[in-house]
Amino acid sequence: MFYSIRWRIGLPFILLILAVMLVLGVYISSFAKSSYLADLESHLHDEAALISDTVKPQLLNSPNIQSVDALAKHWSEIVNARVTIIGADGTVLGESLEDRTKMDNHSTRPEILQARRNGWGSATRFSDTVRYDMLYVAVAAKQADQLLGFVRLALPLQSVQQNIRHIQWTIGIATLATGLLAAILAIWIANRTTRPLRELIQAADQMAAGKLDKRLIPNTHDEIGNLTHSFNEMAAQLSAEIKALNAERGRIIAVLNTMNDGVIIVDAENSIQLVNPAALAMFNITETEALGHSLILVIRQFQLDELLTLCHKTNQTQTTILEIPARQQYLQATATPLGEALPGNTLLLFQNLTRLRRLETIRQDFISNISHELRTPLASLKALTETLQEGALEDPPAAKRFLGRMETEVDAITQMVEELLELSRIESGRVPLSLAPTPAHEMIAQAVERLITQAERAQLAIEIQCPDDLPKVLADSKRLVQVIVNLLHNAIKFTPPGGQITLSARQQNNLVLLSVQDTGVGIPADDLARIFERFFKSDRARSGGGTGLGLAIARHLVEAHGGTIWAESIEGRGSTFYFTVPVAR
Ligand code: ADP
Repeated sequence: MFYSIRWRIGLPFILLILAVMLVLGVYISSFAKSSYLADLESHLHDEAALISDTVKPQLLNSPNIQSVDALAKHWSEIVNARVTIIGADGTVLGESLEDRTKMDNHSTRPEILQARRNGWGSATRFSDTVRYDMLYVAVAAKQADQLLGFVRLALPLQSVQQNIRHIQWTIGIATLATGLLAAILAIWIANRTTRPLRELIQAADQMAAGKLDKRLIPNTHDEIGNLTHSFNEMAAQLSAEIKALNAERGRIIAVLNTMNDGVIIVDAENSIQLVNPAALAMFNITETEALGHSLILVIRQFQLDELLTLCHKTNQTQTTILEIPARQQYLQATATPLGEALPGNTLLLFQNLTRLRRLETIRQDFISNISHELRTPLASLKALTETLQEGALEDPPAAKRFLGRMETEVDAITQMVEELLELSRIESGRVPLSLAPTPAHEMIAQAVERLITQAERAQLAIEIQCPDDLPKVLADSKRLVQVIVNLLHNAIKFTPPGGQITLSARQQNNLVLLSVQDTGVGIPADDLARIFERFFKSDRARSGGGTGLGLAIARHLVEAHGGTIWAESIEGRGSTFYFTVPVAR
């Protein structure tokens, strides 16, 4: 408490005032005492001189001691003080208070010695006779130049001391009162002076707790007013800077959080300082597992250790490919030293190459599939032309047969190219659907009509099951007929003569479920998951026609409508293909 400015200003004031009052009190009381004594002394001197005049005659004619003593007693009553009349030789001739005969020779008393020399003298001392402090004043009684004796007056100093004590008491009270007043004043002034400081401290505390909009109103024009002003400016600048920093931080966090690439920052000891959600997802870790922990322990990939070591050594960006077999992932990791921005820290960027790799594989598969598909018809075309050149032309019926087979091969290639083009158009979303509420049974009827002759030729019965109250579906009817045709065509192809094909439609919540069921050869369980892939053909189908694109096209068209397509099959007993289309509202 006494360390506060309030007390540092107040306390010296109080001490100063107390010291001054103390010195003043001591001085005044000693001054009063001495002036009082001097006053008393001159008073006693005058009275003694007066008395000495009256006793001179008695002293002159060989003194009548009896009458001198009576005189002393008489004067004592008048002047109200002890009166002693002493002979020139120091014998006590009259005494008002005591028995004079018991008193010793007084010639050596200091006041008597002084009076003998100077005509009068005074002294203050403890009287053995009356046993307290007395003021003595003696005056020499002289006739012409002859010393007759001394008249001495004495007063007890008790009353003097009482008066002095009274003065000291008054001064003491005054000292205390002024001291108290000064203390109150000093504290009040100190309080007033330090109040803005205390407010500043409060405001600074609040700012430290995050309330940056706190401002103070400067109500003085002194240094503290200036300080308040500077404080306000500092607070405004600080809050503006913090706001800007927060905005900047928000932007960076937004970028980091929405990025697809993983970002990790590690310090010089390779402990993780920052990690973004993409990185957490890539390595399947949580933020608490990562932050502050060693990168190598969190992500157990030895290549990362090598990458960081190399990056530290060369102080240059380094790149490596991480393969995470458990998750079938390929990641490109790039380590960049952050240099002056964050000394000792390294930025690690992880880019997921899995999709790129997969696309690469798909592209390669695609090319090899196309080459494979084209090789057979092209080889037979080559063989047919060679046979024609080598003389078959001379045999018109054979040549005609060959030409017919050549046309079939060219048709197969043309169909494949058309289907590929169609698929690529659908896949890239360049086929706009003209959706309209369409009755499902109409589309089924159209598809059946297109393939009915083929089915009859293959000796297959076709049945349609479609309730009358079925709601219309939202579909591009031409495209969905294509889907049903593809499925029906497969059913005809893969069902031996005498079989049965059933097309049906029924409602399921806000979808309509369509199915094409056959009693054909069925699909092996292992192949079931892959039949919707491009170019997929089961071994049994490889020998026959078909490009392996029909189901891929069907899947894309159904998905473009917002539906799903799947198949169920028991080998040797038949297959059922299902797909859904949303009900029109
Ligand atoms: P394709 O033009 O060769 O028929 P699809 O994509 O239409 O190509 O069919 C892919 C493969 O799925 C076929 O080769 C066949 O093995 C199998 N498949 C499709 N439909 C049926 C079905 N109804 N019964 C048996 N297998 C089928």
